[in-house]
Amino acid sequence: MPSERLPHIEPLHLADVTLPDAHPRAGQPCPIFAFLIRHPAGLVLVDTGVGDGHAGIDKLYAPQRRPLTDELAARGIAVSEVTAVINTHLHFDHCGENRLFPDTPIHVQRVEHEAAREPLYTIPEWIDFQGAQYELHEGEAELLPGIRLVPTPGHTPGHQSVLIESSEGRIVIAGQAVYDAAEFEGAAPTGEWDDELYASSAASLRDLKPDRVYFSHDAVVWER
Ligand SMILES: [Zn+2]
Repeated sequence: MPSERLPHIEPLHLADVTLPDAHPRAGQPCPIFAFLIRHPAGLVLVDTGVGDGHAGIDKLYAPQRRPLTDELAARGIAVSEVTAVINTHLHFDHCGENRLFPDTPIHVQRVEHEAAREPLYTIPEWIDFQGAQYELHEGEAELLPGIRLVPTPGHTPGHQSVLIESSEGRIVIAGQAVYDAAEFEGAAPTGEWDDELYASSAASLRDLKPDRVYFSHDAVVWER
């Protein structure tokens, strides 16, 4: 890959889940994407998908998983080669395989890390594991040259998105700050933790005037 095309961003389709009846989007397909950023200074992973071995999650969401280890191996990458992990937020389908990354910095907003202590917020053992090294941020942060964390609360209290300045243009990994490409075009959100904050975070991502936007739960990539 020619270096002038770096950083390079690649979605990793880590799972498909069935949304339970009580979910506002029940009946819709729900793919789960993580993202691999190949930066000259290292490999950065955004989110880690659904973990395995949790009876409650398996029963409620029937995840069809593609193990992260396999997805990375298919690209010639060992888990140990990942230099940093970013969690957009700590719901179970975004942090499930954090456990594969002991002694690797995992970047999360402090507010999100605190929110995840609430009962039923996530699967605690998927975020608390031996060797876990959370780097807690309070607001925007530059992770590596051209890779910036941007707080986008609304779906959760401490959700963050990732802004990447690449030779392919200005790229946003929205995560779940915006659910899908249609919503990025202006469709109204429903049933978020805070709909008002969610709408203003979505607007702030639009204001960044990205050339391309990736979403955690939509295979469609928005292009300017
Ligand atoms: Zn979520």
